[in-house]
Amino acid sequence: MATDIPNQMKALRIHGVGEKYYKLEQVDVPSPKGYEALIKVGAAGLCHTDMMLFTGEFKTDKYPLIGSHEPAGTVVALGEDAKGTVKIGQRVAGMLHRDVCGECTDCKAGLPKYCPNSLYTGITTNGAFAEYEILDARYLAPIPDEMSFEQAAPMTCAGITIYTAIKKAKLKPGQILAISGLGALGHLGVQMAKAMGLTVVGIDARPEPIAMTEGLRLAPDLCIDATSLKAEEAVEEIHKLRPKGYEGWKGADATILTSDPLSAQRYAMDITRRHGTYVVVSQPDDLRFTYQDIIFKDLTIIGSLHGWTEDLKECLDLAAKHGIKSELSCYKLDKHEEMVDSVHDSKRKGKSVLVF
Ligand SMILES: [Zn+2]
Ligand SMILES: [Zn+2]
Repeated sequence: MATDIPNQMKALRIHGVGEKYYKLEQVDVPSPKGYEALIKVGAAGLCHTDMMLFTGEFKTDKYPLIGSHEPAGTVVALGEDAKGTVKIGQRVAGMLHRDVCGECTDCKAGLPKYCPNSLYTGITTNGAFAEYEILDARYLAPIPDEMSFEQAAPMTCAGITIYTAIKKAKLKPGQILAISGLGALGHLGVQMAKAMGLTVVGIDARPEPIAMTEGLRLAPDLCIDATSLKAEEAVEEIHKLRPKGYEGWKGADATILTSDPLSAQRYAMDITRRHGTYVVVSQPDDLRFTYQDIIFKDLTIIGSLHGWTEDLKECLDLAAKHGIKSELSCYKLDKHEEMVDSVHDSKRKGKSVLVF
């Protein structure tokens, strides 16, 4: 490795289920092998999934583990097979997948993001809450020059997940997309959907994210506070967004669910039009719908998982082109406990990011 790379680095490690915070520790800087790239981390996002490692909702036996699967940084070293993928000195955003097997049915079907044998950085192998991180060089995306590391980092999970879900909704420009939940994914999603030419409705039950979303340059065409408008009233408001002469069904053509509560699920389903599409990206313990929803209303209910390198490249380019930004709370390493606390703050809006 290059001589200016130290032997040791600072890292935030989780030591097991039930802990409240990461421990700030000194660990060895890893060396890249095979298709791996060593990244000097510029910024790393904190995601809801990171919190699921503290509670044990996401099972892993890889403790102690460096957290975060939302990396952005600079390539400083490459494994022997990684030459020609990215260049030393290049600014990149990373996918969480590592060691995709290439041999399972998903990999052979061209669906490597579902590979059950792959490692996930920050979840089943060390992640980006460290000064350096190993990533798979084949799944890196260049960061556009005008984009900072702290803006690029949330794109690698929150951004790519909502971008892929919008694509999966398969709407045409002018059609109505509702996004339920205006947190990290939702506030990015409304901006992306506007940039993609959709008519956009944002829904939340908390005043802070609604106010933040209404203030965005690419704000939704309509923001709904679910605590003050019944679903049937919301449908009428959404209908007013239709062009004159529209004779179709009332409600959103597709709705993306990014929030967990059952009340939010019901609301999101009720404001989706007949024969519409309901895309689930949140991971609630209990996901409910009725036979009326899928038989008589003929809703198509689908899920959407993260994304792949092409999606990451597209969403970084879309964000750079249209000035799509995350609302950020940035933290230095010594403030990592405040960063974790921020996730549990009900007034939280946007993304919490660790910056180096
Ligand atoms: Zn995530
Ligand atoms: Zn595989």
